[in-house]
Amino acid sequence: IVVSACLLGRNCKYNGGNNRLPDEKLQRLKTDYELIPVCPEAYGGLTTPRVPSERLCDGVISKTGRDVTAEFQKGAEAALYLAQLFDIKTAILKENSPSCGCGMIYDGTFTGTLVPGDGVTAELLKAHGIAIIGESKI
Ligand code: SF4
Repeated sequence: IVVSACLLGRNCKYNGGNNRLPDEKLQRLKTDYELIPVCPEAYGGLTTPRVPSERLCDGVISKTGRDVTAEFQKGAEAALYLAQLFDIKTAILKENSPSCGCGMIYDGTFTGTLVPGDGVTAELLKAHGIAIIGESKI
C-alpha cells in the first residue's frame, strides 16, 4: 500500500511536522501490509518547511502567490511511478491536502474552507485505477 509519508511520521509536512497515525493503527498497518511512503510535495522538489499551497482552478498556488503547479504535478507523477512499479492498487492518503486529499480539499483562499475535490496526486492515482482511502477511513 502506498501511504502519505507524513501519516507514517515523516516530518515532511509544510511546517516541518507530520501527521503520524495513532500507534495502534500504524502498528496494525505495518503488521498486515507492506507500506511504501510517498510525499509528492517533496518529490516535486519543494523544500520542508515550505509555504503552504492550495489548489486553485486547475493549478496550485502557494500562500505567497507562487504558481507551484509544475512541482505538484512532478510529485504526483513520481508517486504514480512508485505505485505502478510495485503494482499497488490502494493508497492511504492524508485528507484535505492539495496533493494527497481525496474528496475534500481547501478552496484556494487559505481560509480553512473545504470544498469537494481531489489533490493533484490523489486525482492522478485515481485516474490510473488506484483506490484512495483517507486516514479517517482506515
Ligand atoms: Fe503529507 Fe502528502 Fe503533504 Fe507530503 S504532500 S506532507 S505526504 S499530505
